[in-house]
Amino acid sequence: MNRPTPTTLPRTIGVLALQGDVREHIAAVEQLGAAGVLVRRPAELDRIDGLIIPGGESTTMSRLLDIFGMREPLTARLADGLPAYGSCAGMIMLATRILDGRPDQLPLGAIDITVRRNAFGRQVDSFEGSVEIVGIDGGPVPGVFIRAPWVESIGAGVEVLGSAAGHPVAVRQGVVLATSFHPEISGDLRVHQLFLNMVAAAG
Ligand code: GLN
Repeated sequence: MNRPTPTTLPRTIGVLALQGDVREHIAAVEQLGAAGVLVRRPAELDRIDGLIIPGGESTTMSRLLDIFGMREPLTARLADGLPAYGSCAGMIMLATRILDGRPDQLPLGAIDITVRRNAFGRQVDSFEGSVEIVGIDGGPVPGVFIRAPWVESIGAGVEVLGSAAGHPVAVRQGVVLATSFHPEISGDLRVHQLFLNMVAAAG
């Protein structure tokens, strides 16, 4: 089978570093040959080819986005086509609608999904499973779910890449990817590789 040759150009991937498991994402992209940089200030958005929003606590991250003056510039960059990947809390941040969120919690609206926070249950109900992902070869990826959201509904342009418990947990719309689970703490780099391929294809 003919496959397009993946670009080998080094890319700079920002990780939104307001809260959450930032270091794990930096380590993952660097293991794949990209440069990983922390993003906390608006000017740092100009230097990146793609952005990862990590797992953590979306209510806190949403508040910090406002405190750091990042909401408006980030929303503008996303609207301008910045490739983005959100894991867990990052999925909630990138969503368009949030169920069981806090009233002051505002999503970025970068992917046309409705997410339900803490959908799989509380902290004690965190679990690991494996998830078959469309576009990822070599068998299912390990999915670490920690107070994870699931996708309750999707808009027309959204592709479901993987599901668990009957709900989408990996989705993509154009240059935006989101997973309910945390590949950054599983040691399996294939989801990050998928995102880097998306960044490379975006130019
Ligand atoms: N439940 C968290 C939230 O609502 C997400 C948990 C996580 O990122 N592991 O932000």
